[in-house]
Amino acid sequence: MGQTSPASALIVGAGIGGLACGIALRRAGLAVRMVEQADELAEVGAGLQLTPNATRHLRDFGVLDALETVAVKPRALEVRDGQTFGLLARCDYAPAVAKYGAPFLVLHRADLQKALADGAKAAGCDILLGARLQSLDTHGDNLRAVAEQEAGLIAETADIVIGADGVRSLVREHLQVGVRPSFARRVAYRATIPVRADTPPDVRLFLGPDAHLVTYPIRAGAAVNVVAIVRQDRPVNRWSEPGDASTVHEAFSQWAPEVRSLLLDASSFLCWGLYDVDPLPRWGAGRTTLLGDAAHAMLPFLAQGAAQAIEDAATLGSVLGAGGPLEPALRRYEALRQARAARVQRGARRNAVIYHLKGPARFARDLALRATGGSLLSR
Ligand code: FAD
Repeated sequence: MGQTSPASALIVGAGIGGLACGIALRRAGLAVRMVEQADELAEVGAGLQLTPNATRHLRDFGVLDALETVAVKPRALEVRDGQTFGLLARCDYAPAVAKYGAPFLVLHRADLQKALADGAKAAGCDILLGARLQSLDTHGDNLRAVAEQEAGLIAETADIVIGADGVRSLVREHLQVGVRPSFARRVAYRATIPVRADTPPDVRLFLGPDAHLVTYPIRAGAAVNVVAIVRQDRPVNRWSEPGDASTVHEAFSQWAPEVRSLLLDASSFLCWGLYDVDPLPRWGAGRTTLLGDAAHAMLPFLAQGAAQAIEDAATLGSVLGAGGPLEPALRRYEALRQARAARVQRGARRNAVIYHLKGPARFARDLALRATGGSLLSR
């Protein structure tokens, strides 16, 4: 009996979504090649919350054990008024942990990236670094991608193409879905500061007029991640850029001393522009589809962007692992994921409004937060 070779997948982008997808597709029996424009797989210094809906898949992918040695398991989300430091709500993570049977983790992005990259390589993914996708031809039987490397152009062929190439996805442009990233007129200043004796093992959210701040421990409790969100009309077109510390200190100058002192502990900040996209009318066509931020870039106010990318990867792996023709399997994946991801995108936009209320609306929000224990917030 003749042997049929496994279906082949080309994944564009080796970020959190692409790497998770690589592992999931190898587990489903596909041959996986990835093209990544960066010369090395390195994440810049910042933290990440990984919710149980994502960590349960990371356990299946075989990377959870490695993460648990470097992550912290916070007990709860504590919401405080950033100007008075008064407690507004405390939301216990135990119900979510019990629901999914998996931990809530806070960790450094580089630790997640490394665990996923190690997992993808061990699973047999072929990762081509320094290779920037230039164009796609999805008309013939074999899909064809042209990528640019320092040495010149290379051509890759595959049975399916997955665009995991982030918010400014070229694969999404190729699919002509007619949606562009929109700048939220907000930026995130991020820093890592030394842990202190009074650092709680919790995620803390400080709310104030038109700004908010999030902190949580990372690196097995050895450091604290600080994210300060402020208004800014000037777009940040790169993924991140060095942040001006005086802008951050000025924005929070009227906040409680406990909050200001966290910012003063930071030796430098990196600044991220916050972009999202409207829910896409479709994620794919033929044997091409999207995954992660390319499909559903969202504001980070639900801490779900990477988690949704990991959910995408698990779903894509399971529909392809079930066998059958590839094109209907990709449409099945999209049908399973589209509505959920859109709901999360909308929830993140809703939190953007609630977090930044000013004047009387802010006081009404705080009353509601105190009365409902935080259930006013999308989670
Ligand atoms: P990306 O990380 O953007 O990766 C895309 C990859 O594709 C990159 O490596 C890029 O180099 C590559 N690429 C792009 N174009 C090409 C090309 N033409 N050719 C080859 N390669 C290409 N999510 C959470 O779950 N929890 C959180 O706590 C959280 N906090 C956040 C805080 C902030 C301030 C921000 C901005 C985001 C946060 N997120 C969080 C969201 C999360 O970071 C993203 O959703 C996640 O990184 C998306 O992963 P991705 O792999 O889809 O895209």
